[in-house]
Amino acid sequence: MRVAVVTVGDELLVGETVNTNAAWLGEQLRDRGVTVERMTTLPDRTGDIARVVNEYHAEYDAVIVTGGLGPTHDDVTIEGVAAAFGREAVESEEAVEWLAEHGGYSHAELADGTGEIPAGSRPLPNHEGVAPGCVVENCYVLPGVPTEMKRMFAEVADDFEGETRHVVTVDAAEPESALLDRIQRVRELFPVKVGSYPGEYVTVRFEGTDTEAVEDAAAWLRERVEPVAE
Ligand code: ATP
Ligand code: MG
Repeated sequence: MRVAVVTVGDELLVGETVNTNAAWLGEQLRDRGVTVERMTTLPDRTGDIARVVNEYHAEYDAVIVTGGLGPTHDDVTIEGVAAAFGREAVESEEAVEWLAEHGGYSHAELADGTGEIPAGSRPLPNHEGVAPGCVVENCYVLPGVPTEMKRMFAEVADDFEGETRHVVTVDAAEPESALLDRIQRVRELFPVKVGSYPGEYVTVRFEGTDTEAVEDAAAWLRERVEPVAE
């Protein structure tokens, strides 16, 4: 399963808010064996959201959008997603009823626009906040507030599944340039994905669906590099 993650918010683009939602979702999806192919951060702008969601929903098995769900003027995600699917944003009776029952908000108390989702979409209750999320075709719209987003993702997490991949890392106390020959060789010998990440030392990461091949590849390299001192 191939997925795109779209995070919406002007504050993310200027680094005022660290995009922890993208990192958290990436990890959750990876753990479920899902491949995240795109992570895109967009401003709170209807046209941009509509364009990117439209493109991604055609290209990937699912799109997850977070942020900009509330009813304030700067929250335009619902409008953008509705436009991406050629629908209107309409008040969801189901969402409003849920809020009355579980949130204790009467219809009159809700800010204008709360409970609006793209026509014909399935509302997702917000157990940690107010604004509901929704599922439109293969697009999952979640809140920006991390606690709300995580709780709502739990409602739909079972829709995201793929082949579980095994990961093993090997650290080497050598410059990356010196390791290139062995990295090249291990790639040729084993059917696994190999990545190398230089830092204080080089971490070589092996990933694949065949656990034995991943373990064998890591063992092969481990025997041939300078180990990192404990
Ligand atoms: P609300 O209904 O409260 O307005 P919302 O879904 O509209 O929620 P935003 O207005 O986009 O969400 O953001 C609410 C809060 O969550 C802000 O403090 C924002 O910085 C934070 N937030 C939004 N997106 C992210 C993200 N990707 N990573 C971490 N924090 C985020
Ligand atoms: Mg908001």
